Amino acid sequence: MTGRMLVVDDQMGVRRLLFEAFSEEGYIVELAGSGQEALEKVRKMPPDIVLMDMKMPGMNGLEALREIKKFDNTVPVVMMTAYGELEIVAEAMKLGVKEYVTKPFDINELRGLVKKTLGEVGNRQVV
Ligand SMILES: [Mg+2]
Repeated sequence: MTGRMLVVDDQMGVRRLLFEAFSEEGYIVELAGSGQEALEKVRKMPPDIVLMDMKMPGMNGLEALREIKKFDNTVPVVMMTAYGELEIVAEAMKLGVKEYVTKPFDINELRGLVKKTLGEVGNRQVV
């Protein structure tokens, strides 16, 4: 199952990597370089899944997540954290995030998590 994906990361290299990896698999990949930009994109066109970096200048991933959840509480989010950011992981899980990868991540691991996450929420509109 593929769909619309929103990638949020302040690092261009990460955005580019994820764009290439997931476009190749048939996802329609939108990119945002900040939390603010992510909110604008979500409002315009709600994605089926969000890949969210936690550490970003300005609005960080947690703050962006809170705002996105206000707009669409059911959108699945996979977060990207740095090693040792356990408090951030715990906070994000309280907001309903189930999956995360630790940077530097293995792209295949992330592919697997995205598939798993989309599979679990495949019927979210119906539930
Ligand atoms: Mg970052």
